Amino acid sequence: CNILAIESSCDETSAAVISDGKILNNIVATQSVHEKYGGVVPELASRAHQQHLIPVVAEALKSSGLDKSSLSAVAFTRGPGLMGALLVGGSFAKAFAYALDLPLIEVNHMEAHVLAHFIDTPSPAFPFICLTVSGGHTQLVLVKSHLDMELLGETSDDAVGEAFDKIAKILGLPYPGGPHLDKLAANGNPEAFTFPISDMKGLAFSFSGIKTAVLYFLKDNIKDDPEFIAHHLEDICASVQYALIRMLMQKLVRASRELGIREVAIAGGVSANSGLRTALKEAAKNQSWNVYLPRLEYCTDNAAMVAMAAHYKYQAGQFCGLDISPLAKMKIGNHGKK
Ligand code: ATP
Ligand code: MG
Ligand code: FE
Repeated sequence: CNILAIESSCDETSAAVISDGKILNNIVATQSVHEKYGGVVPELASRAHQQHLIPVVAEALKSSGLDKSSLSAVAFTRGPGLMGALLVGGSFAKAFAYALDLPLIEVNHMEAHVLAHFIDTPSPAFPFICLTVSGGHTQLVLVKSHLDMELLGETSDDAVGEAFDKIAKILGLPYPGGPHLDKLAANGNPEAFTFPISDMKGLAFSFSGIKTAVLYFLKDNIKDDPEFIAHHLEDICASVQYALIRMLMQKLVRASRELGIREVAIAGGVSANSGLRTALKEAAKNQSWNVYLPRLEYCTDNAAMVAMAAHYKYQAGQFCGLDISPLAKMKIGNHGKK
């Protein structure tokens, strides 16, 4: 069984081919057009997807060594994401499926981030807890099987990736700022400055407070030292990152205790963060967890994870019709619903 999968939910245009559960390739075209705006511009994202999609799919097919005629199905990200961006990938997938008379598979992008854990071994054992941390989401998910997931908690305001990016922007770092902040933090002192650690009820997160706190902290200090950011950049980054990771780990530990589950995974773009990866490895020792960290190329948006999700849906016979429409908001566990 060979499936072509397409990802276009945000600012990465990606295609991958999976053959009997094995990923053959993962072609990703990142959109640089947004850098000068300091954030993803939805209309520009849609246009860039239109430009990149056909070459990206052609390359995925070519490097897989498979002919179009040997495909068994076409899969695409239905949501959540930017409506215009989702429409480009979804319309292409539908046209492709229709032209070649192939079954169509819709994939939930957030479930795909979780299923990236099944691309490489060792994979987590069910049930496991996955902390999905990305540019648009912060979710704690109970994963009961490949196709059965339950949302335990999520952010009530900003996503943690958004917090990384917005704070990085305040500090004058290029977009997206998360990876830059991470690099600078590596040489700073995480205890140099103290930022508030929010604790929402239960398993909910909140990341809007720290952004405001950093803004006022900088304003206060710049009054005395106009070069405050330049003088303390690494320490500020390390201290911000420390607080953000504390907030994530606090909920992850709580979820693990409440559910009595020690299989713990992280997914999504922010799982590339070196501080979070270290914190997780430490928890593996202190909390006796088995922890799972995806390979970096499978952390940020990619079609390989969509292909992996499609593989399990194909096996379960979960196909969709050509009348399916994208969903800008899409809940975990929303299978086949219109
Ligand atoms: P979603 O999956 O919620 O729709 P998205 O697709 O934009 O959002 P991803 O591509 O999974 O998200 O992740 C992008 C985010 O990951 C950005 O916010 C980026 O700054 C962040 N990120 C990537 N690498 C790092 C890092 N090393 N440290 C912190 N953040 C990082
Ligand atoms: Mg992205
Ligand atoms: Fe994503």
